Amino acid sequence: MPIRFFNTYSRELEDFVPREPASRRIDLYTCGPTVYARAHIGNFRAYLFEDLLQRHLEARGYEVHRVMNLTDVDDKTIRGARQTGVPLSAFTSQFKQAFFEDCETLRVKPANEYPAATDQHYIEKMIAMIGDLVSKGLAYQAEDKSVYYRIKNFPDYGKLAHFDLEQLQSTGRVKNDEYDKEHVGDFALWKAWDEEDGDVGWESPWGRGRPGWHIECSAMSTALLGDQIDIHCGGVDNIFPHHEAEIAQTEGVTGKKFVRYWLHCEHLLVDGQKMSKSLGNFYTIPDVLAKGYSGREVRYALLRVNYRKPLNFTWEGMDEARESLGRIDDWLERLRTTANGPADHPSVSKGDEFESALDDNLNISGALGFLFETIRETNRAMDGGELDSNSANAWLQWWRQVNATLNLEPETTGLPAEVVQLAEERQRARLAKEWKKSDELRDKLSALGWDVRDTKDGQKVTRRAGA
Ligand SMILES: [Zn+2]
Repeated sequence: MPIRFFNTYSRELEDFVPREPASRRIDLYTCGPTVYARAHIGNFRAYLFEDLLQRHLEARGYEVHRVMNLTDVDDKTIRGARQTGVPLSAFTSQFKQAFFEDCETLRVKPANEYPAATDQHYIEKMIAMIGDLVSKGLAYQAEDKSVYYRIKNFPDYGKLAHFDLEQLQSTGRVKNDEYDKEHVGDFALWKAWDEEDGDVGWESPWGRGRPGWHIECSAMSTALLGDQIDIHCGGVDNIFPHHEAEIAQTEGVTGKKFVRYWLHCEHLLVDGQKMSKSLGNFYTIPDVLAKGYSGREVRYALLRVNYRKPLNFTWEGMDEARESLGRIDDWLERLRTTANGPADHPSVSKGDEFESALDDNLNISGALGFLFETIRETNRAMDGGELDSNSANAWLQWWRQVNATLNLEPETTGLPAEVVQLAEERQRARLAKEWKKSDELRDKLSALGWDVRDTKDGQKVTRRAGA
């Protein structure tokens, strides 16, 4: 069976055919966090769905090249920096660090690139794209000096979210501060500087200002992945206007189909309700860890429901996650014991039902159902002394394959806690491009007798010979 995904653009399950089937390379763009506060568990549900997607594609032999952007300039980040009285970059850097820390806790595979919107290179790319849109009549500078996208000149506008311009016109009320726009749905590409922006701003052909959120993703995805990509992900709340705008901007500039498959993750509810600070059901990863749960348990709890279904987060659900992982751990321990025992039969290959379930639009409940059915059956066989070491080894090997996708193996790194902690800090520093800090941490590890190497799969820490 081919891999199938539900494409938001067509509203249909489609066979997955990458842009260049022969190369096995897949370009994946995933909208990342706005770093004005610590991300909440709802955000991480989407990031974990993307992690599962990447790992499954890799299990099927694809080489996934993933980009996740960091939005480090917008109204919220500017307001936060002003309220705390620190420069914008200092304000956002703490939340970038926190984001990488949480990703690591949840065992999310790092993206190949984490471009930040305020990087001069990308600001220039955004300005170039906006200039191109203006010259094509797809954007205009309004009296308020901001530059807006002219949606009526892009006939496909609304196709992703499945509504038309008239609908938008009749539902939206023109707000006072938007009187300069030609159409209520026109969105800002470049926001003219105003007093509230303080020292945040860049020079452009339209005067001092800053980019709108949507153009950031168009610029960073085309800069790093080219004009066309295979898969673009985000949460359902990104569909409109963010992703609709990304299509209009990118295709307006390139004239080519931007994305082949749009995949969107449903909402996370907490105790059946929308998460909100006022309801007191708003949780970050450290909030959940503070209740005594591990990152691995949170990972399982947020992964176990298909991404197109709403997931209800509850503390009972966290306990169930713990119980399920306990069953996996006990099973692995029994298998390892049995694997040391006598061998009677040649081992047989264990098939790929787990992967086949995931081929079907990442049907994780089907895949986990198969895993636990397997655990039940092999446990029964071990109870009856009917499972020999060859078979136990074959199941252990099967588990390694499954675990490459789930990443739920119990923690046993074998490294001293202090070394693990320093290495994790260094990993975060590197992801945040804080090279000086990363070098200092390398020196600290070295002083303890541990060498660090940076490889394609991340850093490798090894005990130095003779240390
Ligand atoms: Zn985006």
